[in-house]
Amino acid sequence: MSATQPQVVDFELSPELAAFRSSVRDYANTHLGKAAEWDAEVKFPRSAVEAAAKLGLLRTTVSKAHGGSEMGNLASCIMLEEINAVCPSTGVTISVHNSLVNSLVGKWCSEEQKKRYFPKLVNGEWLGAYCLSEAFSGSDAAALRCEAKREGDHYVMNGAKLWITTGSEAKLFLVFARTGSDRVKGISAFLVEKDYPGVGVGKKERKLGLRGSPTNEIVLENVKVPAHNRIGDEGVGFTIALDTLDGGRLGIASQSLGIARACIELIRDCLGKQVDAKGRPTASQPDQWTLADLASELDAYRMLTWRAAILRDRGLRCGAEAAMAKSTASRLANRAARAAVAILGQEGASGATSAERWLRDARITEIYEGATDIQRLVIARSLLVP
Ligand SMILES: Cc1cc2nc3c(=O)[nH]c(=O)nc-3n(C[C@H](O)[C@H](O)[C@H](O)COP(=O)(O)OP(=O)(O)OC[C@H]3O[C@@H](n4cnc5c(N)ncnc54)[C@H](O)[C@@H]3O)c2cc1C
Repeated sequence: MSATQPQVVDFELSPELAAFRSSVRDYANTHLGKAAEWDAEVKFPRSAVEAAAKLGLLRTTVSKAHGGSEMGNLASCIMLEEINAVCPSTGVTISVHNSLVNSLVGKWCSEEQKKRYFPKLVNGEWLGAYCLSEAFSGSDAAALRCEAKREGDHYVMNGAKLWITTGSEAKLFLVFARTGSDRVKGISAFLVEKDYPGVGVGKKERKLGLRGSPTNEIVLENVKVPAHNRIGDEGVGFTIALDTLDGGRLGIASQSLGIARACIELIRDCLGKQVDAKGRPTASQPDQWTLADLASELDAYRMLTWRAAILRDRGLRCGAEAAMAKSTASRLANRAARAAVAILGQEGASGATSAERWLRDARITEIYEGATDIQRLVIARSLLVP
């Protein structure tokens, strides 16, 4: 290849992204040290989220024109791997705010809506939540029943959203509700403020993992939502929901990479201590193979994740690519966490190390923002119906 030919594939980060990664690593080491405590006490990592806001980590997907840093999806993925390698509860809070809420507002909201909400979202004064799931609508998101009925210059909203990340902390809810009877085209999206009369935070879920991240029911009882808070036209809500999830899945893929990396480091440190008098590794071959396989997969799935992020940053479709990244990285996180607990033995199971927390947190990466089976269906469909 001649020096003048454009380089198509470059595995090096730009100096700016490398410096950004290093600054986020510093943030994680400085502000996330209480991750185990937040997990044990089921406590929202408020100080960590506030520090992230001060450092501008809650505005990476927002344009400069709206007060963001316009760093994009690749930078957000790099950031989220670093944060999740220390505290996945903080990681999911920041992921939802950036990759679901801010991304949706930036891509789908009107200029007037952006001017109203971005000033509060970019500095973390308001956290956002993404409200799609309901009691009978998880994987089958189009089955949602929450209703928004037009009455003059507003909609009257009734229903309940379940399993909403940051539910008790958020001030702005992006709510998907039924405005018509058609399963898909009858869904619209709305900006709903927590302070609107009739909006209530319901039960808090008691979870296996990610226990520092509050997950709540959001109850909507005769809530008057101004018509100017509808996002886009009536009926495009489902398109908005799915498009936004493509970006969200990159956040969860990155969360999974962070968890996998932390587990691999635990295994490496444990096996690294097993040496003979000359300092040569004496760890069993099966344990070394496990370490080698996990490390190889980590590098491979990071490339898948960054590829999808680059496509999204270029404004291209990345549905199948994001599903590949999330489904592979989340399964790796689970395998790595199981291996860490197994190799560390009683220390791994006891809480003396963070292995058991990684195992509990990892399990959720295969459930939310589209369970693994659903990701595989998305990938298969892209191959069968190109
Ligand atoms: C910690 C946590 C936080 C969450 N945060 C949010 C949030 O902020 N906002 C939000 O809207 N939602 C949120 N959710 C909800 C989440 O998105 C749903 O749990 C997820 O979509 C799966 O839906 P479900 O739990 O109803 O499972 P189901 O849809 O009932 O699926 C159960 C199992 O059946 C499989 N399955 C279902 N349908 C099919 C099919 N057609 N083919 C093959 N297999 C299938 C699934 O893969 C899964 O293994 C959160 C969930 C969790 C656990």
